[in-house]
Amino acid sequence: MATIDLDAVAKSFGPVHVLEPVDLKIRSGEFVVLVGPSGCGKSTLLRMIAGLEEASSGDIRIAGERVNDVPPKDRNIAMVFQSYALYPHMTVAQNMSYSLKLRKTAKERIAEAVKGAAETLGLSKLTERRPRALSGGQRQRVAMGRAIVRRPRAFLFDEPLSNLDARLREQMRAEIKKLHARLGATSIYVTHDQIEAMTLADRIVALDAGKIQQIGTPLDLYGRPANRFVAGFIGSPA
Ligand code: ADP
Ligand code: MG
Repeated sequence: MATIDLDAVAKSFGPVHVLEPVDLKIRSGEFVVLVGPSGCGKSTLLRMIAGLEEASSGDIRIAGERVNDVPPKDRNIAMVFQSYALYPHMTVAQNMSYSLKLRKTAKERIAEAVKGAAETLGLSKLTERRPRALSGGQRQRVAMGRAIVRRPRAFLFDEPLSNLDARLREQMRAEIKKLHARLGATSIYVTHDQIEAMTLADRIVALDAGKIQQIGTPLDLYGRPANRFVAGFIGSPA
């Protein structure tokens, strides 16, 4: 697993400044939760780290290496979205193995990786199903399985549970926590949900108006919010 370092990373779309220079150092194995209102630049920040969007300025380093000019496929970072983006015509096993096939990974290694991920995610009995025959929670697990099999250096989660109902969200939250304990994966997790942030985060990054308002442990933000925005986010019930 890898460190992720952002050094004055900023983003503009044309004349519009979406993100002021962001400095952030994420430790190997750390679980960082990114919170902030809609439109504040959370997805843009993840997309820059993944290489799907170019930084306007600043340096992005993964495991110490500057990756600004490294294409997404060579960054070895996995993204998990809220829309599952599964291939409808493929089975669960095929969905999970697709990226490995593209990389011409050996068949045995693919089978082993898919089996391991399916076991980890409680999907072992569903590997021959197609997405339409799965529940929302199961689909989200397949999306995570697709990320896991690649053994990425880090995971970026963009509001992965926001399409699920409250009960399922709670269950998946617990599973993500277990998964993190097991894989020790460096993770950045975007959410609107205070409880997700408080229960999953080693540290929370609170973003508003294109700027980091506070970085700290859940207890730091809860006990010593830097400003009204942070207090409002942590203080109000879900
Ligand atoms: P969040 O994920 O926090 O809701 P986003 O990162 O998606 O926010 O978007 C931040 C801002 O950047 C928004 O105002 C959005 O409209 C703008 N934006 C995002 N992508 C583009 C793009 N490709 N072109 C122009 N503006 C964009
Ligand atoms: Mg977003």
